[in-house]
Amino acid sequence: MKKINKKFSRKKSFKEIKKIRDAQLGKPRPFTTGDKNGMWKGHNASYSAIHHWVKRNFKQPDKCELCKISKTEKRLNWANKDHKYTRDRKDWLYLCYSCHTQYDIKHFNNRPNFLNKQNTFTHRQCSVCRETLPLTTKFFCHSKSHSLGFRYICKNCQSKQFQLKQTKD
Ligand SMILES: [Zn+2]
Ligand SMILES: [Zn+2]
Repeated sequence: MKKINKKFSRKKSFKEIKKIRDAQLGKPRPFTTGDKNGMWKGHNASYSAIHHWVKRNFKQPDKCELCKISKTEKRLNWANKDHKYTRDRKDWLYLCYSCHTQYDIKHFNNRPNFLNKQNTFTHRQCSVCRETLPLTTKFFCHSKSHSLGFRYICKNCQSKQFQLKQTKD
């Protein structure tokens, strides 16, 4: 845990972060930056490339563009309006997590971009074992920073990974 926290420390420059990101290429990626244990897979390299570009080139508003919550209260992220990921500022919104989710639900057929057939509001496919399990504390750990308040990895796999880490250290 300590190690991972260090990785995403705000002191890191973009270059360093990019280096870390590059090293992680091909591995499951978190949905949001700084999201420490997200194991969600799905975006390809071009998606993250454009997101990096957007982060560097657009001025970040202080507030969520929909609910106006300030960035000190909630983490805000760039959301692409039509999922085409152009480099046009008007195709992007700077949104808090809840507005982002709401926006995707409204505009993308009830499927936020992190959801697929296996991932609904009641079930989630574990990103490691690919098992689709009910979205309850019995199968998934709570996490405020993850979508719908649960981790992307099932409890079973999480404890396996934990044990693996322990033996490595
Ligand atoms: Zn908002
Ligand atoms: Zn699993």
